[in-house]
Amino acid sequence: MNSQTNVQQPVIGSHRDDVEIAVIGAGIAGLICAEQLRQAGYRVVVVEKSRGFGGRAATKRVPNFRADHGIRYLERSGRLLPVLIDALRDRGVLEPWDVRFCRVTPEGMIEPETLRSSDVDPAQITRYIAPAGANAIGKFLAQDLTVWRSRRAISLTQAGDRWRVQLEAVADGVDAPLSLTARAVVVAVPAPQASELIATTETIAPEIKDAIAAVSYHPCISVMAGYSAELAEADRGWDALQFEGDRDLFWAGVESTKRDADRCCLTVHAAPEFARDQFDAPDLNAVGQALLDRLAQYFPALNDRRPEFLAVHRWRYAFTDQPFDRDCLSTRSSLPVVLGGDWCGTEQVETALRSGLAMAAAVAQAVEGRSLPTLSEVLDSLGSEGR
Ligand SMILES: Cc1cc2nc3c(=O)[nH]c(=O)nc-3n(C[C@H](O)[C@H](O)[C@H](O)COP(=O)(O)OP(=O)(O)OC[C@H]3O[C@@H](n4cnc5c(N)ncnc54)[C@H](O)[C@@H]3O)c2cc1C
Repeated sequence: MNSQTNVQQPVIGSHRDDVEIAVIGAGIAGLICAEQLRQAGYRVVVVEKSRGFGGRAATKRVPNFRADHGIRYLERSGRLLPVLIDALRDRGVLEPWDVRFCRVTPEGMIEPETLRSSDVDPAQITRYIAPAGANAIGKFLAQDLTVWRSRRAISLTQAGDRWRVQLEAVADGVDAPLSLTARAVVVAVPAPQASELIATTETIAPEIKDAIAAVSYHPCISVMAGYSAELAEADRGWDALQFEGDRDLFWAGVESTKRDADRCCLTVHAAPEFARDQFDAPDLNAVGQALLDRLAQYFPALNDRRPEFLAVHRWRYAFTDQPFDRDCLSTRSSLPVVLGGDWCGTEQVETALRSGLAMAAAVAQAVEGRSLPTLSEVLDSLGSEGR
């Protein structure tokens, strides 16, 4: 695979700051949309506020290790995810995860998942992870795209026959230009962030603004904790725990079962109620430790033990709570703004893919109506220029 990513720095005064289509947000929805449009021949630039690709397909480098603090794994469910999983497996990005997956019932019992789904073909519940870290998914999808990173889109204004997207540098050393003009804009960010952005333009109809304002998300607090290697051998009977109805915990996984590690690394995700209560707590490490203390009930070796490293990440927009009921939203004009992401449904990455493709179709319909490659054609062609 050609892992080279085309992270171009814009050049002042060049045509690069005037494109056909600007895509805001380099999560899975934005990247698949941008790549499909690029392969159809459109000139596309993706703008991303963070330093990485993939959005919530996120991996943090912690000392001597990588931990996935967003997407935990992918499953072959839905119509599009199996296509993505097969393509990523073929290119060595994903592998099956050999995991003892258990659920924790409201009575606090740990039950191996097979008890619940003994009638299900085990192949159907295979989970896939990226040994290099979940952010490898975004890197794969972005490899042929021009992505302007560390730039947040802060306003949209109509200027003649173009949209002007005003950008703000969110890291030191990000060069001008900090704006972009485009014939069409795709906004592929969580709905509340999309709301803020489109509030800056009068041109978008109030019905669209109202529809997006009605979408809501649950927050999450994710803890990554590293312990000495022998803890991995300690008796616990599970590698991943899915909590049902717990007020504090949503999920816990032994990250070091995903990739080679010289230590035991855990990732713990808080349940929405706990995350909401503690989101603005001044001492995040104390919040992280409280979640680990709760987990000790299911992993006694954690009792009275402090991690060698601890990182806590807050996701203000983690999981769709109230979704929008179509695959994307589009202004019907010759200068379209199209909006979408995983908030257009409840199936997470499957929804992000479906929405990304729907946004590309809506843009293509409004701008010259070029035909688009299918998802599998898009994925097959990725990186082919370097192969
Ligand atoms: C803790 C956690 C665990 C999860 N586990 C799973 C799982 O196991 N399986 C699963 O299917 N899904 C899981 N999900 C959900 C999954 O991650 C999302 O559904 C999916 O990644 C959403 O993709 P997206 O492209 O719609 O949005 P995002 O990934 O949020 O991408 C949006 C991007 O837009 C950028 N952005 C936002 N505002 C601006 C702006 N103004 N200017 C420029 N850039 C901007 C953001 O930085 C981000 O990169 C999990 C999520 C979390 C938080």
